[in-house]
Order: sequence, then C-alpha cells, then structure tokens
Amino acid sequence: MRRVYIQTYGCQMNEYDTAQMLQILALKGFEKVQSAEAADLILINSCSVREKSEVKALSILGRYAQLKQKDPQKVIGFGGCVGQTEGAKLVKKYPFLDFSFGTNNYRDLPEMLKPFEDRFGNEDETEILLPSSKPEAKSQAFITITNGCDKFCSYCIVPFTRGREVSRSPEEIIREAAALVQKGVREIMLLGQNVNSYWGKNKFGSFTSLFQLLQLFQDESEKSLKGLVRLRYTTSHPRDFDEDLARAHRDLPILCEYLHLPFQSGSDQVLRKMRRFYTADTYLKKMEMVKKYRPDIALSTDVIVGFPGESRKDFEDTLKVMREVEFDNVYAFNYSPRPYTRSADWEDDVSLEEKSDRIQELITLQRATSLKKYQEDIGQTVEIMLEGPSKNNSLYWTGRTRKNRVVHIPTQNDFQMGQLFEAEILEATNSWQRGVLKMPPVRALA
Ligand code: SF4
Repeated sequence: MRRVYIQTYGCQMNEYDTAQMLQILALKGFEKVQSAEAADLILINSCSVREKSEVKALSILGRYAQLKQKDPQKVIGFGGCVGQTEGAKLVKKYPFLDFSFGTNNYRDLPEMLKPFEDRFGNEDETEILLPSSKPEAKSQAFITITNGCDKFCSYCIVPFTRGREVSRSPEEIIREAAALVQKGVREIMLLGQNVNSYWGKNKFGSFTSLFQLLQLFQDESEKSLKGLVRLRYTTSHPRDFDEDLARAHRDLPILCEYLHLPFQSGSDQVLRKMRRFYTADTYLKKMEMVKKYRPDIALSTDVIVGFPGESRKDFEDTLKVMREVEFDNVYAFNYSPRPYTRSADWEDDVSLEEKSDRIQELITLQRATSLKKYQEDIGQTVEIMLEGPSKNNSLYWTGRTRKNRVVHIPTQNDFQMGQLFEAEILEATNSWQRGVLKMPPVRALA
C-alpha cells in the first residue's frame, strides 16, 4: 500500500495544484492519508507570496526531520513556490529532504519518484485500493485557467515562482469542467494570478477572452455542463477589469453577484511605487461601473499595509476607498519584503508596531462595514448552496449564498452537499448569517 500526505500552504492555486498532484499520484497507486505520520511519501506544497506562509512551510521541516529519523524509508519532497526558487538549496541544506520540485514541474512527480521506488509498496497491489483514494465528492471545485503573471508588481514574487503568464485552451477548460460536473460539482471557481488577462487559444487558432470564456460556460450550462449553477473567478487585476466583465455580472445568470478586485492601496503615490498602473480614482470608477450593471454585487478586496514609504496620509487614503466602496470583506496583510522583487531593495521603513496599529484600525473599520452588509439581508430570502455540517454546531448545516456569504441553517436529515435552497435570513454577524429554510413547503430549487 502506498500512502501520500501533502501539506499545503497559500492560496487556492496551491490547493488546486495539490488536488492535481493527488490525481497524478493516484495513477501511480498512492492513496491520500490524513497525517504525515501515516504516509510513505510526504510532500510540502509551499507558498512564498507572504513571509508568514514561507516561514510556516520551513518550520514544519523540523517535525518531518524527526519522522524521517524514526522511519528513514519515508520520502520527503519540498515543492510549491518556495520549492521553485529555493528547492535545490533546501535539499542541499537539509539531508532528510529527498528531492524538490516547483510549481512548473509537479506533473513530472512520477518521474521524480522513480529513484525511490523501492521505498514504496508494490504499485499493482495498491491499485486495488484506488476507489477509496478518489477525491471526496464536493459540490464546489477550482479550475486553473491561467498560470503565472506578467505584471511584475514591485512587491510580488509570483512572476518569479510561477513564471510568465500562460492561458489554457477554452476546450481543455470546458472538458475539465464537464468532468467535474459529471462528478456532482455545481459551483466552479476559475483561478489564475490574474484571470482578467486570460487569453486562451482555441482549436481554430483564435483567442478567447475571460468574458468570452464566461459566456461559453453560460452556453454550455445547458449542454455539457448541465447541472452547473454557479460560476466565480479570481483573482482580478483592476487594470484589466473592463466593461464587458462588469456587464457579464448582469447578463450571465450563471455568474455569481460577487467580485474580488484587489486595490492594495488607496494612495496614488504608493500605487505608483507598487507598479499597479491605476489610481484610486480609476479603481473607484471601475467599482461604480460594476455597481451600475449589478447594484447588489458583493465586493471583496486585498490591501497591503505598511508598504515602503506609506505615510499616515497614504494609509488614510486606503481607509477612504474602503469607506466609499463598502466591501463585504477585506483581506489585509502587513507588507513584508519578498526575495527577487524590486521593493526588497527599498527600506522597509514602516515599523512593525505602526503596521500592526494600522491593520487593527483597518480591521475595526471593516468589521463594522461587513456587519452592515451582512445585516442588510435580514428578513430577505436568499439562495444558498449546502456545503456540509457546521464545524462548530452539530445542530446546523452551512451553506453559501451567491454573494459568497456563509449561512448556517438548522440541520435536516435529508440534507446533501450541493443542494440549493431558499432561506430567510434571521440574524447576521460580520462573518456569517443564520437563517431558516422557507416553510412551508421546503423548496429545493434543484
Ligand atoms: S498582478 Fe498579482 S500576481 Fe501579478 S505581479 Fe501583481 S500582485 Fe503579483
């Protein structure tokens, strides 16, 4: 029996890569297990976008070194974004690491594992166990449509770890989606570092934009994607977010009324140093445009706090944008210099204390806005898709609205993941809502 455990850090792209690795390894007879202790093969899928994730990925190595000491037959591979740039150095530094791989070559894992074949069980024997190693049935799934990025924002390591931007063909994407829908997937998130610049070549040699790809999903939802009811995409770059996309949120019923559009800073001088190529004003105009087509759209964003040279006034400009847009959620991060990037050469001159104070202030503002947005639904009927039993209360199940808001509803015996219901919202906090199914009768929409 062959067992693999993958420790994943970072974004949804890394989660997607992990799922791909598990599928590739399943073909070589590996079954996914829930702990590193139980595995013959341990893989680390690391992230280097933020210092914190990188530190986490490196700090787990101590634990794995102990496991290897107890059982020298275990094979350990270090991969992901840190693996892409630093893998060879790490293998040299830590003798318990057997090999490294990156974001661009994980598909070659079977080849990389050949030197260690005698440490794993017999591949043929394990294949009998394959049915249990199939991915768990889930109603939501990710599909990567682009990989890499050409933008080279001054703080971002992605172009160095994931390389230049590459788009997959629309046919390949639809084929992958159809296979997922066949397995019961009802909601798909299209992924890329910057999905807005998607430019996939089709089999006739012509190019497809993200807007056209979304239209294709809409058309296919009546054919090869019958059963798919929700579509989302992330992450977007404001510079490439255009009117076609804004209109798509009104015209394509499959596309959820939710948009994640990072603005990073509300200060034009900081945005210039970040090499973002837009101003706070152009960002706000794009927000107005999308709200014009879809007034009820839920918006979220990313913000970097304490970028080199960020003054108190610059930070206040960020809060100003937040007040004006009223996001559902803001994912805020303290700036930390990343290797290879331009900003790593600049003085990290906002003290850690000041960064922490600013981020606290930002979180306080955002909590109040999120509460206001979530409370707007009280008394309203919303569509929810069931995701599974609540993690904290066995009397509730958790669902998600098209606006990406989490809703808890009282459990019923016949609940299944992926079912769609209408629910009335009774209560809201700044991160979840509580509701009841519309009675009588309980109406399953699909
Ligand atoms: S667009 Fe996003 S992924 Fe690309 S360099 Fe900028 S921050 Fe990084």
